[in-house]
Amino acid sequence: MSRFFSEKFAGLTPYTPGEQPQDRQYLKLNTNESPFPPSPKAQEASRKAAEVLQLYSDPDCRLLRQKAAAAFGVKEDEVLFTNGSDEGLNFAFMAFCDQTHPAVFPDITYGFYKVFARLNGVPYEEIPLDDAFRVRVSDYCGVHKTVFLANPNAPTGLTIEKSEIEQILKTNPHSVVVIDEAYVDFGGESCVELIHRYDNLLVAQTFSKSRSLAGARLGMCFGQKSLIDDLNTIRFSTNPYNVNRMTMAAGVGSLEDAAYCRRNCREIMRVRKETAEALKRMGFYLTDSRANFLFARHPRVSGEALYRALKEKGVLVRHFNEPRLCEFNRVTVGNAEQMHTFLSILKTVLEECL
Ligand code: PMP
Repeated sequence: MSRFFSEKFAGLTPYTPGEQPQDRQYLKLNTNESPFPPSPKAQEASRKAAEVLQLYSDPDCRLLRQKAAAAFGVKEDEVLFTNGSDEGLNFAFMAFCDQTHPAVFPDITYGFYKVFARLNGVPYEEIPLDDAFRVRVSDYCGVHKTVFLANPNAPTGLTIEKSEIEQILKTNPHSVVVIDEAYVDFGGESCVELIHRYDNLLVAQTFSKSRSLAGARLGMCFGQKSLIDDLNTIRFSTNPYNVNRMTMAAGVGSLEDAAYCRRNCREIMRVRKETAEALKRMGFYLTDSRANFLFARHPRVSGEALYRALKEKGVLVRHFNEPRLCEFNRVTVGNAEQMHTFLSILKTVLEECL
C-alpha cells in the first residue's frame, strides 16, 4: 500500500477472481466460462464494430436495449446494460444501500457481495444457509434491508422458488430485493416478469455464462423504470460509456441468435447430468446444481488435496478455503470431451489419494 492510499479503503480485502494461470495449458474448469465460443453472429458483429472504434460507444445502448426488451418482454426503459453484471451489482449497492438500508445476503454466496458492501461503506448482514446449503426464505421475510440473492446460488447451484422470492418481495415492500440470475439459463426459473408486479425487484443477468461472452464483459439489470433511472444516475456519474462498441455489437448478435444460446445450455445441462452421475458412482456427494457447475465433496479425500492433485495433473477446479466449503470443489461443466478427460484424471487422482 502506498502512503497515498485513502484511509477509506485501507482495510478493504478485494475479491479474488478464479485463477487464470498462464504457465501451462490447463483444462480450465474453475471460472464457469462456457466451453463454446460466442455465437458466430456475435463474433461477426463485434469484428465489424472494431472498424469504428475511433468513436465512442452509444451511452444509451439503444439497439441493445431494443433487442433485450423484445427478447425479455420488458420495456426499453426497464433494462440497463453494464460492464459485466458485477458492475450492475456494484451500482445496486451504491444506489440502494446505505447506513439506513443495510445489505443482507447468505453467508455462502457470490463473494463479491461482501466486497461491494465494504467498498461502498455499507453495513451488511450475512445470514447462514441451513445445513443443506439452502436459503431459509423466512430469514429474509420482513427484514427491511436490501436483499441480495443469487438464484441459482453460487457455489452450490441450488435454487429458490419464484413463489418464495415473491414472499420476500411482498414482506419487504420498502426495500429493494436484488435477484442475481447469472446462472438462470441452466435450469433455473427467471423472475424477470415479476418486475411488472413489484416495484422493489431488480434482476441481474450476465452474458458471461450461457452466452459465452465472459471476455466481452456484458451484464443487464431489469427493474421498473424508477429503479433503472437510479442505476443510470450512478452509471452516468461513473462511466457513461461503460459498454464498449465491440461488446455492444456482440450482445446484439447474441440476442439475435437465441437458438444458439438455448442449444448450448441444453448441452451443458445434459453433460452436467452425465457428469453428476459419474461423480456419484465415484462416491462424491453433490448438491442438486441447476447451474453450469457442480459442487462436490468426497467423503474420504479432502477438498484441498483433490484440488491440488488435479492441478498437478493439469485440471483447474475452484476450491474455497472457507470453513463450510473447504471439503468441496466447484467444477465448471465443460463440453462432453472435457468432462470425460476430467473424470478420467479424477479417477487416477482418487486411486492415488485413497
Ligand atoms: N453473479 C454471480 C453469482 C457470479 O458467479 C458471477 C460470475 N463470477 C457474476 C455475478 C458476475 O459475472 P459477470 O461480471 O461476468 O457478468
